[in-house]
Amino acid sequence: MTTTASPSAPANAARHGAARPLVELRGVGKRYSSGTLAVAGVDLDLFGGEFVSLLGPSGCGKSTVLRMIAGLGEPSVGRIDWPAAKRDRRGQPVRDVGFVFQEPTLMPWATALQNVMLPLRLEKMASREAADRAAAALQAVGLDAFLRAYPRELSGGMKMRVSIARALVTEPRILLLDEPFAALDEITRHKLNDDLLALWSKAAFTVLFVTHSVFESVYLSQRIVVMAARPGRILADVAIDAPFPRDTAFRTSVEYAEACKIVSARLAEAITA
Ligand code: ADP
Repeated sequence: MTTTASPSAPANAARHGAARPLVELRGVGKRYSSGTLAVAGVDLDLFGGEFVSLLGPSGCGKSTVLRMIAGLGEPSVGRIDWPAAKRDRRGQPVRDVGFVFQEPTLMPWATALQNVMLPLRLEKMASREAADRAAAALQAVGLDAFLRAYPRELSGGMKMRVSIARALVTEPRILLLDEPFAALDEITRHKLNDDLLALWSKAAFTVLFVTHSVFESVYLSQRIVVMAARPGRILADVAIDAPFPRDTAFRTSVEYAEACKIVSARLAEAITA
Protein backbone atom coordinates (compact mmCIF):
# COMPACT_ATOMS: atom_id res chain seq x y z
CA MET A 1 0.00 0.00 0.00
CA THR A 2 1.36 3.45 -0.79
CA THR A 3 0.16 6.72 0.58
CA THR A 4 1.14 10.17 -0.55
CA ALA A 5 0.49 13.50 1.10
CA SER A 6 -1.35 16.33 -0.60
CA PRO A 7 -1.36 17.83 -3.13
CA SER A 8 -2.51 14.73 -4.99
CA ALA A 9 -2.10 15.89 -8.55
CA PRO A 10 1.68 15.77 -9.07
CA ALA A 11 2.11 12.48 -7.18
CA ASN A 12 -0.59 10.84 -9.19
CA ALA A 13 0.64 12.27 -12.47
CA ALA A 14 3.96 10.56 -11.75
CA ARG A 15 2.16 7.18 -11.46
CA HIS A 16 0.61 7.70 -14.87
CA GLY A 17 3.79 8.70 -16.68
CA ALA A 18 3.22 10.70 -19.83
CA ALA A 19 -0.54 10.08 -20.02
CA ARG A 20 -2.65 13.21 -20.08
CA PRO A 21 -5.37 13.39 -17.42
CA LEU A 22 -8.99 13.36 -18.54
CA VAL A 23 -9.78 16.08 -16.03
CA GLU A 24 -7.40 18.46 -14.33
CA LEU A 25 -8.39 20.69 -11.39
CA ARG A 26 -5.93 23.39 -10.44
CA GLY A 27 -6.34 25.70 -7.46
CA VAL A 28 -10.10 25.17 -7.56
CA GLY A 29 -12.12 27.03 -4.97
CA LYS A 30 -15.83 27.55 -4.56
CA ARG A 31 -17.59 30.21 -2.50
CA TYR A 32 -21.38 30.02 -2.64
CA SER A 33 -23.44 33.20 -2.82
CA SER A 34 -24.40 32.56 0.83
CA GLY A 35 -20.75 33.32 1.68
CA THR A 36 -19.84 29.69 2.50
CA LEU A 37 -16.34 28.83 1.32
CA ALA A 38 -17.06 25.20 0.37
CA VAL A 39 -13.69 24.24 -1.15
CA ALA A 40 -10.30 25.91 -1.55
CA GLY A 41 -7.09 25.14 -3.41
CA VAL A 42 -8.13 21.77 -4.84
CA ASP A 43 -5.60 20.18 -7.21
CA LEU A 44 -6.76 16.88 -8.68
CA ASP A 45 -6.05 14.83 -11.81
CA LEU A 46 -8.27 12.03 -13.02
CA PHE A 47 -6.79 9.61 -15.53
CA GLY A 48 -8.47 7.29 -18.03
CA GLY A 49 -9.88 4.10 -16.54
CA GLU A 50 -9.13 4.93 -12.88
CA PHE A 51 -11.45 4.16 -9.97
CA VAL A 52 -11.04 7.03 -7.52
CA SER A 53 -13.00 7.75 -4.35
CA LEU A 54 -13.42 11.17 -2.80
CA LEU A 55 -13.64 10.52 0.94
CA GLY A 56 -14.28 13.02 3.72
CA PRO A 57 -16.57 14.06 6.52
CA SER A 58 -20.02 15.36 5.71
CA GLY A 59 -19.94 18.96 4.52
CA CYS A 60 -16.27 18.96 3.41
CA GLY A 61 -17.16 19.82 -0.17
CA LYS A 62 -17.11 16.42 -1.91
CA SER A 63 -20.39 17.02 -3.76
CA THR A 64 -19.33 20.55 -4.62
CA VAL A 65 -16.19 19.19 -6.34
CA LEU A 66 -18.18 16.47 -8.12
CA ARG A 67 -20.82 18.93 -9.34
CA MET A 68 -18.19 21.35 -10.66
CA ILE A 69 -16.55 18.52 -12.64
CA ALA A 70 -20.00 17.74 -14.08
CA GLY A 71 -20.46 21.39 -15.00
CA LEU A 72 -23.26 21.84 -12.46
CA GLY A 73 -21.67 24.98 -10.99
CA GLU A 74 -18.50 26.88 -11.80
CA PRO A 75 -15.41 27.31 -9.59
CA SER A 76 -15.08 30.77 -8.01
CA VAL A 77 -11.30 30.54 -8.46
CA GLY A 78 -8.94 28.15 -10.23
CA ARG A 79 -9.68 26.11 -13.32
CA ILE A 80 -11.01 22.75 -14.45
CA ASP A 81 -9.46 21.57 -17.72
CA TRP A 82 -10.26 18.62 -19.98
CA PRO A 83 -6.93 18.21 -21.81
CA ALA A 84 -7.96 15.18 -23.89
CA ALA A 85 -11.60 16.12 -24.54
CA LYS A 86 -13.26 16.78 -27.88
CA ARG A 87 -14.29 20.40 -28.42
CA ASP A 88 -17.73 21.66 -29.36
CA ARG A 89 -18.41 24.25 -32.08
CA ARG A 90 -17.65 27.07 -29.63
CA GLY A 91 -14.31 25.46 -28.72
CA GLN A 92 -15.56 24.37 -25.29
CA PRO A 93 -14.56 20.90 -24.02
CA VAL A 94 -17.26 18.23 -24.19
CA ARG A 95 -17.37 16.97 -20.60
CA ASP A 96 -18.65 13.48 -21.42
CA VAL A 97 -19.79 12.52 -17.91
CA GLY A 98 -22.57 10.42 -16.43
CA PHE A 99 -23.91 11.42 -13.00
CA VAL A 100 -25.50 9.22 -10.35
CA PHE A 101 -27.12 11.14 -7.48
CA GLN A 102 -27.70 9.92 -3.93
CA GLU A 103 -31.41 9.55 -4.74
CA PRO A 104 -32.24 7.60 -7.92
CA THR A 105 -34.24 10.65 -9.21
CA LEU A 106 -36.38 8.63 -11.64
CA MET A 107 -39.48 9.98 -13.35
CA PRO A 108 -42.32 8.18 -11.52
CA TRP A 109 -44.68 8.20 -14.50
CA ALA A 110 -42.16 6.54 -16.84
CA THR A 111 -41.02 2.91 -17.04
CA ALA A 112 -37.45 1.84 -16.31
CA LEU A 113 -36.84 1.69 -20.07
CA GLN A 114 -38.25 5.19 -20.67
CA ASN A 115 -36.19 6.59 -17.79
CA VAL A 116 -32.98 5.18 -19.24
CA MET A 117 -33.90 6.34 -22.76
CA LEU A 118 -34.20 9.94 -21.60
CA PRO A 119 -30.55 11.08 -22.06
CA LEU A 120 -30.53 9.55 -25.55
CA ARG A 121 -33.83 11.18 -26.50
CA LEU A 122 -32.41 14.51 -25.25
CA GLU A 123 -29.56 13.92 -27.72
CA LYS A 124 -32.27 13.45 -30.38
CA MET A 125 -31.49 9.76 -30.95
CA ALA A 126 -34.28 7.93 -32.81
CA SER A 127 -36.67 6.24 -30.44
CA ARG A 128 -36.04 2.69 -31.73
CA GLU A 129 -32.26 2.95 -31.34
CA ALA A 130 -32.64 4.66 -27.95
CA ALA A 131 -34.91 1.84 -26.76
CA ASP A 132 -32.40 -0.80 -27.87
CA ARG A 133 -29.50 1.00 -26.17
CA ALA A 134 -31.53 1.56 -22.99
CA ALA A 135 -32.57 -2.11 -22.90
CA ALA A 136 -28.91 -3.15 -23.21
CA ALA A 137 -27.93 -0.76 -20.39
CA LEU A 138 -30.66 -2.20 -18.16
CA GLN A 139 -29.54 -5.70 -19.03
CA ALA A 140 -25.98 -4.77 -18.01
CA VAL A 141 -27.23 -3.85 -14.51
CA GLY A 142 -29.27 -7.06 -14.23
CA LEU A 143 -32.70 -5.55 -14.88
CA ASP A 144 -33.63 -7.13 -18.22
CA ALA A 145 -36.81 -8.54 -16.66
CA PHE A 146 -37.95 -5.08 -15.48
CA LEU A 147 -37.84 -2.90 -18.60
CA ARG A 148 -41.54 -2.09 -18.34
CA ALA A 149 -41.68 -1.72 -14.55
CA TYR A 150 -42.46 1.67 -13.02
CA PRO A 151 -40.20 3.05 -10.24
CA ARG A 152 -42.89 2.37 -7.60
CA GLU A 153 -42.66 -1.35 -8.46
CA LEU A 154 -38.88 -1.46 -7.88
CA SER A 155 -36.87 -1.86 -4.65
CA GLY A 156 -34.37 0.82 -3.58
CA GLY A 157 -31.47 -1.17 -4.98
CA MET A 158 -33.26 -1.74 -8.29
CA LYS A 159 -34.07 1.97 -8.62
CA MET A 160 -30.38 2.73 -8.09
CA ARG A 161 -29.53 0.21 -10.82
CA VAL A 162 -31.86 2.08 -13.19
CA SER A 163 -30.12 5.31 -12.23
CA ILE A 164 -26.70 3.75 -13.00
CA ALA A 165 -27.99 2.42 -16.34
CA ARG A 166 -29.28 5.91 -17.19
CA ALA A 167 -25.87 7.41 -16.38
CA LEU A 168 -24.01 4.81 -18.47
CA VAL A 169 -26.34 4.63 -21.47
CA THR A 170 -24.50 7.46 -23.22
CA GLU A 171 -21.19 5.59 -22.67
CA PRO A 172 -19.50 8.48 -20.83
CA ARG A 173 -15.75 8.53 -20.25
CA ILE A 174 -16.28 9.50 -16.61
CA LEU A 175 -18.93 8.24 -14.21
CA LEU A 176 -19.51 10.56 -11.24
CA LEU A 177 -21.37 9.05 -8.29
CA ASP A 178 -22.48 11.08 -5.26
CA GLU A 179 -22.91 8.69 -2.29
CA PRO A 180 -25.13 6.49 -4.45
CA PHE A 181 -25.53 3.60 -2.00
CA ALA A 182 -25.75 5.51 1.29
CA ALA A 183 -29.48 4.87 1.73
CA LEU A 184 -29.33 1.13 1.00
CA ASP A 185 -29.07 -1.77 3.43
CA GLU A 186 -25.64 -3.35 3.81
CA ILE A 187 -26.28 -6.50 1.77
CA THR A 188 -27.73 -4.53 -1.16
CA ARG A 189 -24.88 -2.08 -0.88
CA HIS A 190 -22.25 -4.83 -1.07
CA LYS A 191 -24.01 -6.32 -4.10
CA LEU A 192 -24.13 -2.96 -5.84
CA ASN A 193 -20.45 -2.38 -5.01
CA ASP A 194 -19.62 -5.66 -6.77
CA ASP A 195 -21.89 -4.88 -9.72
CA LEU A 196 -20.36 -1.43 -10.14
CA LEU A 197 -16.86 -2.95 -10.14
CA ALA A 198 -17.98 -5.52 -12.72
CA LEU A 199 -19.36 -2.76 -14.99
CA TRP A 200 -16.18 -0.72 -14.56
CA SER A 201 -13.91 -3.67 -15.34
CA LYS A 202 -15.82 -4.42 -18.57
CA ALA A 203 -15.93 -0.86 -19.90
CA ALA A 204 -13.16 1.69 -20.05
CA PHE A 205 -14.75 4.52 -18.06
CA THR A 206 -13.18 6.43 -15.16
CA VAL A 207 -15.05 6.52 -11.86
CA LEU A 208 -15.11 9.32 -9.28
CA PHE A 209 -17.06 8.00 -6.32
CA VAL A 210 -18.07 10.23 -3.41
CA THR A 211 -18.47 8.48 -0.07
CA HIS A 212 -17.95 9.05 3.64
CA SER A 213 -17.40 5.32 4.21
CA VAL A 214 -13.80 4.19 4.67
CA PHE A 215 -14.82 0.54 4.12
CA GLU A 216 -16.65 1.25 0.88
CA SER A 217 -13.85 3.44 -0.49
CA VAL A 218 -11.15 0.83 0.26
CA TYR A 219 -13.19 -2.00 -1.25
CA LEU A 220 -13.84 -0.15 -4.50
CA SER A 221 -10.94 2.12 -5.24
CA GLN A 222 -7.52 2.22 -6.77
CA ARG A 223 -7.03 5.65 -5.21
CA ILE A 224 -8.67 7.42 -2.30
CA VAL A 225 -8.51 11.19 -2.17
CA VAL A 226 -9.14 12.31 1.42
CA MET A 227 -10.70 15.74 1.96
CA ALA A 228 -10.81 17.93 5.06
CA ALA A 229 -13.53 20.47 5.84
CA ARG A 230 -13.83 24.23 6.34
CA PRO A 231 -12.75 24.93 3.74
CA GLY A 232 -12.80 21.65 1.82
CA ARG A 233 -9.33 20.71 0.64
CA ILE A 234 -7.35 17.60 -0.25
CA LEU A 235 -5.27 16.20 2.60
CA ALA A 236 -4.06 12.87 1.26
CA ASP A 237 -4.04 10.60 -1.76
CA VAL A 238 -3.93 6.93 -0.82
CA ALA A 239 -3.25 4.23 -3.41
CA ILE A 240 -5.00 0.90 -2.77
CA ASP A 241 -2.84 -1.53 -4.67
CA ALA A 242 -4.88 -4.72 -4.08
CA PRO A 243 -5.65 -6.46 -7.39
CA PHE A 244 -9.05 -6.75 -9.08
CA PRO A 245 -11.44 -8.50 -9.16
CA ARG A 246 -12.16 -7.87 -5.49
CA ASP A 247 -14.65 -10.03 -3.65
CA THR A 248 -15.67 -11.33 -0.23
CA ALA A 249 -12.21 -12.84 0.23
CA PHE A 250 -10.71 -9.34 -0.15
CA ARG A 251 -13.34 -7.84 2.19
CA THR A 252 -12.26 -10.25 4.94
CA SER A 253 -8.51 -10.15 4.24
CA VAL A 254 -5.70 -8.75 6.39
CA GLU A 255 -4.75 -6.52 3.45
CA TYR A 256 -8.23 -4.93 3.45
CA ALA A 257 -8.15 -4.42 7.23
CA GLU A 258 -4.69 -2.80 6.95
CA ALA A 259 -5.84 -0.47 4.19
CA CYS A 260 -8.93 0.51 6.20
CA LYS A 261 -6.66 1.31 9.16
CA ILE A 262 -4.43 3.59 7.07
CA VAL A 263 -7.37 5.36 5.44
CA SER A 264 -9.21 5.72 8.78
CA ALA A 265 -6.12 7.41 10.23
CA ARG A 266 -6.06 9.83 7.30
CA LEU A 267 -9.75 10.52 7.73
CA ALA A 268 -9.26 11.18 11.46
CA GLU A 269 -6.55 13.71 10.54
CA ALA A 270 -8.91 15.27 8.03
CA ILE A 271 -11.65 15.67 10.64
CA THR A 272 -9.34 17.51 13.05
CA ALA A 273 -7.39 19.45 10.39
P1 ADP B 1 -20.22 17.10 1.16
O1 ADP B 1 -20.62 16.57 -0.18
O2 ADP B 1 -18.81 16.78 1.51
O3 ADP B 1 -21.17 16.70 2.25
P2 ADP B 1 -21.04 19.68 0.10
O4 ADP B 1 -20.22 19.91 -1.12
O5 ADP B 1 -22.44 19.24 -0.08
O6 ADP B 1 -20.25 18.71 1.09
O7 ADP B 1 -21.06 21.03 0.95
C1 ADP B 1 -19.89 21.74 1.34
C2 ADP B 1 -20.31 23.03 2.06
O8 ADP B 1 -20.96 23.88 1.14
C3 ADP B 1 -21.29 22.79 3.21
O9 ADP B 1 -21.01 23.71 4.23
C4 ADP B 1 -22.64 23.08 2.56
O10 ADP B 1 -23.56 23.55 3.54
C5 ADP B 1 -22.27 24.18 1.57
N1 ADP B 1 -23.14 24.16 0.39
C6 ADP B 1 -23.34 23.12 -0.45
N2 ADP B 1 -24.18 23.48 -1.45
C7 ADP B 1 -24.51 24.77 -1.23
C8 ADP B 1 -25.33 25.72 -1.92
N3 ADP B 1 -25.98 25.41 -3.06
N4 ADP B 1 -25.43 26.96 -1.40
C9 ADP B 1 -24.76 27.29 -0.28
N5 ADP B 1 -23.97 26.46 0.43
C10 ADP B 1 -23.84 25.21 -0.05
